[in-house]
Amino acid sequence: MNVIRPIKSVDDLDKAGLLEGRDVAALEAVASRYAVALTPTVSKLIDRADPEDPIARQFVPDAAELVLTPEERADPIGDHAHSPVEGIVHRYPDRVLLKAVHVCPVYCRFCFRREMVGPQGLGTLDADSLDGALDYIRAHTEIWEVILTGGDPLILSPRRLEEIMLRLAAIDHVKIVRFHTRVPVVDPQKIDTALIAALKASGKSVYVALHANHPRELTDEARSACGRLVDAGIVMLSQSVLLKGVNDDVDVLAALMRAFVEARIKPYYLHHPDLAPGTSHFRLTIAEGQALVASLRGRISGLCQPAYILDIPGGHGKAVIGESAVREVAEGCYSVSDYRGAEHIYPPHE
Ligand code: SF4
Repeated sequence: MNVIRPIKSVDDLDKAGLLEGRDVAALEAVASRYAVALTPTVSKLIDRADPEDPIARQFVPDAAELVLTPEERADPIGDHAHSPVEGIVHRYPDRVLLKAVHVCPVYCRFCFRREMVGPQGLGTLDADSLDGALDYIRAHTEIWEVILTGGDPLILSPRRLEEIMLRLAAIDHVKIVRFHTRVPVVDPQKIDTALIAALKASGKSVYVALHANHPRELTDEARSACGRLVDAGIVMLSQSVLLKGVNDDVDVLAALMRAFVEARIKPYYLHHPDLAPGTSHFRLTIAEGQALVASLRGRISGLCQPAYILDIPGGHGKAVIGESAVREVAEGCYSVSDYRGAEHIYPPHE
């Protein structure tokens, strides 16, 4: 029987029984370039009998990652172009990313920051850089929201998180603090009383955006961890990436969005995959994504509908790219398609 323990190398993957039929030399080449990590929770979730397992596809390296295509880029969403000081990305006027850490409990094979995260990545902000980042937030009174991302901020200890939150709490113009994380799914036991207490900041509203891509990730343990956050007054949102071979299927997407809503998590973003290096095997076309999102519209509750989003390469921000249900057919006259695809004129003629 395989012992379930954290996996951080190709050798660990082999010992955990996750390399059946794979080219180990190619995977060593992948692992020397992009970080590898799976938590015991994720390792246990993988169906070793299924060569197409959607959980394995997200976390177990693949020789296809060695294939680079001309449109791919090291910084696909243009963080560097909008980084005025270390640890800050200021792309939109009213909000900043605070990238306190570039380490994650798992490394997603499609990660949009795969050139920045991992043991050989940018690490954790040191004390001087964190001071500089917080000084920047304090000096820019237009900043209403701070988004802790990276890296996965919930990998930090409760003591470190509490320190950051206390310092943000002292900045009056910051009203919202949002965390982007995979921890409630990949390491649910970490969401304990100490960590939840550390996420609170006096006078601020706290949001946690959970990254999950397949309904099987929403295990009973993951739902309990999310329940503890929501019960503590933290609002939860979802973000998922639309990935070939993982969730490019309307039934899977519908089950995922329903699982979020059942766990009191509001579906928020469904990202079109970014042009990260070595990830072309995950990408579908925008037309394929639009068709999937249109199918969701007719199938599940409005509560379950995410916004389909493209981060425009070069740092130009997010655009909603779902098909529009409305088109102008004459001045002041529109054709609106219903959830079955039938068209209706608005305003109606009679
Ligand atoms: S958790 Fe987020 S930052 Fe970390 S590897 Fe996955 S996508 Fe990248």
